[in-house]
Amino acid sequence: MEYKNLIAGDWSETVAAAANINPSDTQDVLGYAANSPAEDMERAIAAARDAAPGWAASTPQQRFDVLDAIGTEILARKAELGKLLSREEGKTLPEGIGEAARAGQIFKFFAGETLRQAGEILGSVRPGVGVEVTRSPVGVVGLITPWNFPIAIPAWKIAPALAYGNAVVLKPAELTPGCAHALAEIINRSGLPEGVFNIVFGTGSTVGQTLVQSRHVDAISFTGSVETGSAIAAACGAQRKKLQLEMGGKNPMVVLDDADLETAVDASLNGAFFSTGQRCTASSRLIVTEGIHDRFVAALGERMTRLRVGNALDDSTQIGPVVDERQLEKDLYYLDVAASEGGQVLGGQTLQRSTKGFYLAPALVTETSNDMRINQEEVFGPLASVIRVADYDEALVVANDTPFGLSAGICTGSLKYATHFKAHAEAGMAMVNLPTAGVDYHVPFGGTKGSSFGAREQGSHAKEFYTKVKTAYTLA
Ligand code: NAD
Repeated sequence: MEYKNLIAGDWSETVAAAANINPSDTQDVLGYAANSPAEDMERAIAAARDAAPGWAASTPQQRFDVLDAIGTEILARKAELGKLLSREEGKTLPEGIGEAARAGQIFKFFAGETLRQAGEILGSVRPGVGVEVTRSPVGVVGLITPWNFPIAIPAWKIAPALAYGNAVVLKPAELTPGCAHALAEIINRSGLPEGVFNIVFGTGSTVGQTLVQSRHVDAISFTGSVETGSAIAAACGAQRKKLQLEMGGKNPMVVLDDADLETAVDASLNGAFFSTGQRCTASSRLIVTEGIHDRFVAALGERMTRLRVGNALDDSTQIGPVVDERQLEKDLYYLDVAASEGGQVLGGQTLQRSTKGFYLAPALVTETSNDMRINQEEVFGPLASVIRVADYDEALVVANDTPFGLSAGICTGSLKYATHFKAHAEAGMAMVNLPTAGVDYHVPFGGTKGSSFGAREQGSHAKEFYTKVKTAYTLA
């Protein structure tokens, strides 16, 4: 399979160079993606520029039909797309199929949004003057996506971009071109005019940078690491280009003495280890009060060691492989760092399976303090650490003592603490008796502090980024 660029409605011939390797079985090569030169990205941007005015002038019905068709096809093919996702990224099949379904639901939601557009007509403070506030498309938007949600994240950027009338250039992650290509094929046969959606495969340093630096791109929406996001922010800031960043997390899960033990263990197991811990919303710091600490650690450790790690496509697998060798080495490096700083590591050994892959047993690091590197730096693997605290007040201070602010959870039976936590956790999303990961697609998603920058993604809040506002005054 060759993953070609889609530019102005044509699948362009390029040199297909980068192998797409199955992390559960490194002998299995799914295909080869174009390693595109900067000129391909420039052609895609020019195609989007040409197509943008036509799409901006399209009717809500035209936009609805396109988005609805895309959503319908994704949902009809969710099992096949989910399998592709599991094969190239390493999520388990139920996780892969669930993510594909979510992508379809996102397109359906934004199909509805095309019909719900509204402006405001207001009275002026001056006599005889009328005021109208309207929204219009931003123009050409560049979308840059990571590998860990290879179909849902492109979907939650592309769907609102198109719904609000923008032309799109997508630069997907190098590690997961297959899902992006499948999505591009679906979009290409949805009835969307040529050039409104374009995709260019290649490296961040070549085609990604070209997209960010182009004067013909009006806005950039990026999801990925803090390091890349910060470089993109500097480039966009210099051009005063509209920007939205979703980046890393070091999400706290607070467990109080009065928590239901089973609920707390379920939420922590899911939040820390499912999807191999490769979620920006993963619960990587478990902050546990003294009275429940030992029971919680014993129960979570016991459940964690029983998790079945294996090939993502096996029905019995609960935790798939790590995405690639680089990430596996990073996970092992941080486990060494945690041990050298005095943490007690349970699990975390590499595993052999019948196929050669990047298998790692989930790991729990106990007896840690919040200032240790394992608690301050994002790792992005199936590992979590436990921090022992005296009470709720200390738990909240520790939860907030991080440069990140994406998601924060609490397990408690107390309405008082739950209410206080929702108000005072320094995070864009707060969860009560639920994992820090796992969100709905019809409400805003995003963080505070170092995790996010710019307007929220998803739900009808997405219009803040994908539209610009005009205020018009008329003398009656
Ligand atoms: P990454 O930053 O390495 O890459 C993300 C994308 O940016 C890729 O497409 C890459 O090619 C591109 N890129 C790299 N350098 C670039 C440059 N100089 N200019 C333009 N584009 C460039 O991130 P990753 O490893 O793919 O993803 C993992 C990270 O994503 C984690 O930090 C995780 O927390 C974060 N993430 C955040 C969210 C969220 O919503 N907050 C969701 C998922 C993942």
